[in-house]
Amino acid sequence: MTDKPLEFGMTETGEEILAERTKKETDEKCPQCGAVLDFDPGSGGLVCAYCGYKGVILVDENAVVQELAFESAEYRESIDWGTEKKQIICQSCGAASIYDQLAIANECPFCGSNQVMQERGVDSLAPNAVAPFEISVEKAAEHFSFWLKRQIFAPSKAKRQAKADRFKGVYLPFWTFDANTYSTYQARYGRDRRVRQKDGSYRTETDWYSTSGSYDYFIDDVTVMGSTRHDPRNLKRIEPYDFQRLKPYRPEYLAGFVSERYSVGIDDAWPQAKDQIANFLDGQISQHIRNVNRADRVSGLRFSTNYSDRTYKYTLLPLWMSSFSYKDKIHEFLVNGQTGKVSGSVPISIIRVIIAVLLVLAIVLAVLYVANDGFPFLSTARY
Ligand SMILES: [Zn+2]
Ligand SMILES: [Zn+2]
Repeated sequence: MTDKPLEFGMTETGEEILAERTKKETDEKCPQCGAVLDFDPGSGGLVCAYCGYKGVILVDENAVVQELAFESAEYRESIDWGTEKKQIICQSCGAASIYDQLAIANECPFCGSNQVMQERGVDSLAPNAVAPFEISVEKAAEHFSFWLKRQIFAPSKAKRQAKADRFKGVYLPFWTFDANTYSTYQARYGRDRRVRQKDGSYRTETDWYSTSGSYDYFIDDVTVMGSTRHDPRNLKRIEPYDFQRLKPYRPEYLAGFVSERYSVGIDDAWPQAKDQIANFLDGQISQHIRNVNRADRVSGLRFSTNYSDRTYKYTLLPLWMSSFSYKDKIHEFLVNGQTGKVSGSVPISIIRVIIAVLLVLAIVLAVLYVANDGFPFLSTARY
């Protein structure tokens, strides 16, 4: 074993180092039948898919997710996933997925294509935080049926018959950043006063003043998705994830699940985080100026921000992906693996839409009828 740091885009020799490093096999084996154990979202432990044996994950209850220093070069070296992994690249959609070495990986979990190419080892950073699946596949299916039943425009037949197709549990890559910020700003603030006019009424006038100053704020857990492969609107609908329930990364949480390799690296994620932080600080600093100057309004705010003590977590968040077919059309949907929240596309019943439109129309007419004490435009008919 050498202390030579491992880097991205490994050479032949680099790969050997990695293999050696991950050889300490942590793949848990079933004591009853010898099969590889999978993570069990229901119990938070491990389960044998063959004989049903359940095992616990021995975790240090006091362990907290470590924030890693962004500035340090160290993060480029932590590519040890704690267990032997392989990576498959989809020729069709380009997704890179990370599997346990022994898992079957003959199709892309994201697009279903079997045009996949297997690579030995993984050249990507190991995550340091994970929100383990808390929703089992059975629970995900229940959440899906309940959700579909509540879709008012979905045909009744679909609600009765739609069966979720094979669920795929994946961990999606996210970067979360913390930082101390120190901003210096310039702005104008306005104080309103009421001016009595000749006719006795009042009007508002604003007196404007310039101001400048500085503002400190600690930014906690700004999140940037490590992949551009998913429609952010669909993912938005299954948010939020509870970051308070993040666990320090352990390979057991991933056993039996696929992880998507990030395509947005940490250096590309940071500028996105900075944009989010700047937006947030804009609101904070405006509020700060209003508070300290007892001002009613702020305009022309300009500020620049220095960041220090930047830290990051590379976090995996759990997602169930599935689909159902109705009248030869495939409808995809997502289930939040932590909370069970569902989003997706549903078939629309034209008849239900028409009924809804007619109902709304009937209500509008009824309201008009009551308000006008009869339909004014029908009044001629009364005589
Ligand atoms: Zn077993
Ligand atoms: Zn694919």
